[in-house]
Amino acid sequence: MNLILMGMPGAGKGTQAEQINEAYNIPHISTGDMFRLAIKEGTDLGKQAKDFMDQGELVPDEVTIGIVKERLSKDDCKKGFLLDGFPRTIAQAEALQELLTDINETIDYVVHVDVPEEKLLERLTGRRICPTCGTAYHVAYQPPEVEGKCDKDSAQLIQRDDDKPETVKNRLAVNLKQTKPLLDFYQDKGYLVTVDGDQEVDQVFKDIQTKIEK
Ligand SMILES: [Zn+2]
Repeated sequence: MNLILMGMPGAGKGTQAEQINEAYNIPHISTGDMFRLAIKEGTDLGKQAKDFMDQGELVPDEVTIGIVKERLSKDDCKKGFLLDGFPRTIAQAEALQELLTDINETIDYVVHVDVPEEKLLERLTGRRICPTCGTAYHVAYQPPEVEGKCDKDSAQLIQRDDDKPETVKNRLAVNLKQTKPLLDFYQDKGYLVTVDGDQEVDQVFKDIQTKIEK
């Protein structure tokens, strides 16, 4: 089974990826892991990617796509794969179609874990950190015993700038702008399945299974 997993930050994609990986025994391939592996193995493309990254530049598409191709050609992908974080653009999506055709493969499903924006905001802005010991809390899902105070050392919890509503809203807007054309692209091709991500994680996974085992 060849899958692509899509969803906004805070949609719970990571958890679902783990469950899919366990249930179907297909490797979870995130873009970051893929780059790290190519660099570690010292492939030509890995070296090229590293040069760009060392210079603080974006890795160009042809290098990224080459690395995806190397990764998908490995033995552990014979039973399938779960791509996460790639493709990010229509150009990459089109290149992926071509490279899959080259290796006689195709995408089975693009799984979109859909969570309403206000829910994402609640999830992403609720995080609080203890500045003393680094323990993380969430005001709704993992609150401290005493509001605003660390359980371990009673320090006043803080909200990191990254977790502030304005920052989170911006991040979501940028992500949505990037994701929407891809969702449309895969919808047109008939690969897209959407699951309601605003449920218990086990139920989200059951819904994914129901849709991809049809
Ligand atoms: Zn603490």
